[in-house]
Amino acid sequence: MTAAVFLDRDGALNVKAPEGRYITGWGQFELLPGVDAALRELRRRDPSARIIVITNQRGVARGLIDPASLDDLHARMRKELRGAGVELDGIYVCPHEAASCDCRKPEPGLLRQALADIPEIEPDRSALIGDSLADLEAAQRFGCAAFLVGPPDRRRVVMAGAASRGVPVTGEAASLPALLRAYPIVESRPGTGQNATATGTG
Ligand SMILES: [Mg+2]
Ligand SMILES: [Zn+2]
Repeated sequence: MTAAVFLDRDGALNVKAPEGRYITGWGQFELLPGVDAALRELRRRDPSARIIVITNQRGVARGLIDPASLDDLHARMRKELRGAGVELDGIYVCPHEAASCDCRKPEPGLLRQALADIPEIEPDRSALIGDSLADLEAAQRFGCAAFLVGPPDRRRVVMAGAASRGVPVTGEAASLPALLRAYPIVESRPGTGQNATATGTG
């Protein structure tokens, strides 16, 4: 059995497009600073942990990027990370419009797809890292820890939303590298309040 680190894409791995805009090609894709080294650090800490990207891409439903172009972008993203020494264990995409499927975060469908493909993943040892309330809610519904990244003004808004909806947040930081400096993420850790185990081991 193993842990997984589920990573949101836009705003966690790469620079987010401006509000209401979409990343429609590789030319607009830019990894956030230090993300490649942070992912190597995650691998070093727990070599068996799966690193899986979980991303809402409504731009597909809206015809702003076609599925083949999105696949191409993700193949390039994989290659860039591989060049930096990090192999992703999966990329799961919701291409649908809001309220039309069970996989667009905050629905946990993408996480459940990953679990179906890799049954040795233990949700209660796993964590999702993202920059939106939908990420935190998806983690809650799936039963893994939730970590919030992003600039302080945005995190304040998201944390207030999480508090008002009773969504637990295990930790927060400005970026993935900062988060890893502050938290173990998937090392055996105290329970997060739900699905906690006595020892943190599986
Ligand atoms: Mg995001
Ligand atoms: Zn979907």
